[in-house]
Amino acid sequence: MYLYNSLTRKKELFVPNHPDLVKMYTCGPTVYHYAHIGNLRTYIMEDVLEKYLRYVGYNVKRVMNITDVGHLSSDGDTGEDKMLKGAKREHKTVMEIARMYTDAFFEDCRKLNIKRPDVVEPATNCIADYIHIIEVLLEKGYAYQAGGNVYFDTSKLEKYYVFNDFNAEDLDVGVREGVEEDVNKRNKNDFVLWFTQSKFEDQALKWDSPWGVGYPGWHIECTGISMKYLGEDMDIHCGGIDNAFPHHTNEIAQSESYLGHKWVNFWFHVLHLNTPSGKMSKSSGEFLIVSLLEQKGYDPLAYRFFCLQSHYRKNLVFTWENLDNAVVAFHKLIDKIAALDPNAGGAVDAQALEAMKGRFMKGMDADLNTSLAITALYDVLKAKSNDATKLAAIADFDRVLSLNLLETAAKKRAEQPVEEHDPEIEALLAARTAAKKEKNFAEADRIRDELKARGIEIIDTPQGPKWKRI
Ligand code: AMP
Ligand code: ZN
Repeated sequence: MYLYNSLTRKKELFVPNHPDLVKMYTCGPTVYHYAHIGNLRTYIMEDVLEKYLRYVGYNVKRVMNITDVGHLSSDGDTGEDKMLKGAKREHKTVMEIARMYTDAFFEDCRKLNIKRPDVVEPATNCIADYIHIIEVLLEKGYAYQAGGNVYFDTSKLEKYYVFNDFNAEDLDVGVREGVEEDVNKRNKNDFVLWFTQSKFEDQALKWDSPWGVGYPGWHIECTGISMKYLGEDMDIHCGGIDNAFPHHTNEIAQSESYLGHKWVNFWFHVLHLNTPSGKMSKSSGEFLIVSLLEQKGYDPLAYRFFCLQSHYRKNLVFTWENLDNAVVAFHKLIDKIAALDPNAGGAVDAQALEAMKGRFMKGMDADLNTSLAITALYDVLKAKSNDATKLAAIADFDRVLSLNLLETAAKKRAEQPVEEHDPEIEALLAARTAAKKEKNFAEADRIRDELKARGIEIIDTPQGPKWKRI
């Protein structure tokens, strides 16, 4: 499989470090609010990546953190902890907020068929791990104490700006508008590993540490949690593109300084879901969540389909019209699958199935091109093979796409009238059709009534009249 690696800015052949296991880490949600459907685009595409790796035969161990402390309202280490903000907004404790929005996140994931990672770890569970890493960074001279906080010294690195070219403006993180410059920093991109000084006296979550009572910075949690469960190296680190700088750049700085060697092989970044007016974000005003889609009558899996139709390395614009178009396409796809007959009999044509899988994998191997994979699905429906082979291919692809294709098609089939063979009823139906053709509507209605009296309902379809027992 070829996968784009943000670290090298190239598509590279994916080869795991250890032949028997792919180690994968995902930056989890900051649980101070519902995840918006942009966040969920990122988790859908990461889910597809994980499932495809399993599909091609790898064992995968995937770890995700839950950010329940330390993510400040600005990535420049200033502002209030987002969790505290959420708690104040809802008059609850930070832990209540964390529990509520963690549960809401996994409920959204369930609706979108996003598999729960093998390990899910709240940041507040691993404080001792962060303290240990910070101690080592201080010992090695990569960190310093100033004004009560512990900072990472970016000037100690030969190359700090790993992902800086994604968004040039973000380089000025310490001086950008609305962000107060921290006078304790030796260099503008130095970042906090441990806070003891907060201008918000009511910082709810605090722990004892060698540097005083305080709380960890956001970046250190991903380093600590990933190393706790995946060890000193990893194959793929995932996240949305906004995390590339400064979050992932800081993760690399502190992790590689701590380890003394390279840490992550592939960086997988998902581009944003935007609204026509700009970025979707949790902190600014209204944002779209899964339950809103449901309230408006959308199946969450139609949103998953919408995401899969486009490539993860392209920005995706959300409009209701775009979603409606995806819904129409999704329904048509389900209708076509529903038209296949699971009871038609006949053996699966193994050779044809392999060819179908080959087309699907060709798309997925090309940097997770899900839209090509969906084209491969349409090709299956158009193929000359028997229904058993087509249904086997669809079941196979859906291990990765996770669109509940066969289940939804089966439901649709069950809603359709059962075709029973009854020569007498069919003769009456034919007579009704002939009467309608001759514009003898009275006779047509009489036949309808006669059938109704016998407990038969006529259903007019584009393929002609069908009937079912009432
Ligand atoms: P957060 O809960 O803010 O920590 O973000 C959770 C995940 O969503 C991270 O991987 C972010 O990079 C990602 N993300 C944030 N905004 C968007 C967006 N508009 N589109 C896609 N992914 C996003
Ligand atoms: Zn992270």
